[in-house]
Amino acid sequence: MADDEVMGAAPDEAARSASGLVAGREPDEEGRRLWLQARAAATNAYAPYSGLRVGAALSTAGGATFSGVNVENAAYPAGLCAERAALAGAVAAGALGAGQRLTAVAVARVDDGPIGPCGLCLQALAEFGDPDIIVAVSAGADAAGAPAVLRVVALHELLRAPFRLGAHTAHDTHVVDERHDAHDTTDTPDTADAHVPAPDEGERP
Ligand SMILES: [Zn+2]
Repeated sequence: MADDEVMGAAPDEAARSASGLVAGREPDEEGRRLWLQARAAATNAYAPYSGLRVGAALSTAGGATFSGVNVENAAYPAGLCAERAALAGAVAAGALGAGQRLTAVAVARVDDGPIGPCGLCLQALAEFGDPDIIVAVSAGADAAGAPAVLRVVALHELLRAPFRLGAHTAHDTHVVDERHDAHDTTDTPDTADAHVPAPDEGERP
């Protein structure tokens, strides 16, 4: 799809057509700042096999921010996504874990194409972040490379029932749904499932 086709559509339509995201909102200042940090990090990604260079940036309740990039490997499964690389850096610095929490995360591609966290990274983010933390994703760029269609979603919109050791039950899922209802009044219940995107469908090799 050409960039001008994305730009010519209404914002929600653009996000949907560019990335598969059905829902999403305009980012606040933190979302934009984090996305730009992720975009800057993406230039350092090590992706000689896929060519898909991704950066992530996250912020913590303590006010610190950390970046990560995808690090591929000749043995493909040994590769690491940008989001989990950022998490590892934050934990290593003592800024996450032991009661210290994640507040937001952003993901960007060096070519400004559509990107969001994969399922593995969503689970990793849920270990440290509450269900309503924001996730800033790229849904396409304009011809000049600006983040023209930057959207934010809540973590629970991307991963409704994260695995919890010893508590992965229907009750646990219900707790997630209660939080969703409490924090997002713009959704109607019968469209809740439509918010689950296919973040990387057709994008990752
Ligand atoms: Zn991932």
